Amino acid sequence: MDSEMVGLSEMNTEQIFAEDRRIEDFKQNPRGEFLQAIREKDMARCLVKTAEIHGHFCPGSALGVMASVHGLNLLGLDSISSDGLEDLMAVVETNACFADGVQAVSGCTLGNNALVYRDLGRLAVTFAIRGKETGVRIRVQPDFSSSVAKASPEFYPLMEKVIKNREGGAREKAAFRKAGRQAAFGVIQLPFDELFAVETFRPLLPEYAPITESIVCSNCGEMIMATKTVGGLCFMCAGEAYRQVEGRGIVAKESERPSASTKS
Ligand SMILES: [Zn+2]
Ligand SMILES: [Zn+2]
Repeated sequence: MDSEMVGLSEMNTEQIFAEDRRIEDFKQNPRGEFLQAIREKDMARCLVKTAEIHGHFCPGSALGVMASVHGLNLLGLDSISSDGLEDLMAVVETNACFADGVQAVSGCTLGNNALVYRDLGRLAVTFAIRGKETGVRIRVQPDFSSSVAKASPEFYPLMEKVIKNREGGAREKAAFRKAGRQAAFGVIQLPFDELFAVETFRPLLPEYAPITESIVCSNCGEMIMATKTVGGLCFMCAGEAYRQVEGRGIVAKESERPSASTKS
């Protein structure tokens, strides 16, 4: 029986010690398993771990995984051991599935500010280390879709039906998931040079994310970053325009001043 399938109460002392050790290792180095997979260029393991956050298998995230595994190895081993404290930076040029492959593998995420999202709609990512002269930009070749179609001939027709036209029932959706899995695991077996081009250059990186003080909005009472306030009010209460990252990219929004207070 697989030891991982055994409930905690059925474990013997040795198994409990091993589990404790695993948790302790994980606490000391949360990305340890990922880092090992990146060093070993174990694409399948990186893809599976990426799907934990992405939610499905697809060629887009698989391309993000491959671009990141190769990009980090090209930058050198010190870049791989990123701790998400903004020394390793990723500049991603799309917010499609590709971006989740980048976030998962590189550990540069929206929340740790090591990810820069450049709203260009290009399947490309640049990795760079602060203080170092050169970065690497990896871009997907324009004819990548023929490689995807070879890996899974049903993928694009099913995507058209299920995603674009919002047609098809449970059976088509299941078939689409299966085709996505087939395409993703097919793509990662292809040679890197067939799918990508690499450029080396000095990247333009933003400053470290500022640590800003927080203030309490005098209308709604919520805590706000001081840089996101106008006259002591949050943008929402002030009726100020703001920006939002959504499916179509970075979009300017007009906030409507709430007509009635939601305070009770
Ligand atoms: Zn996807
Ligand atoms: Zn407010």
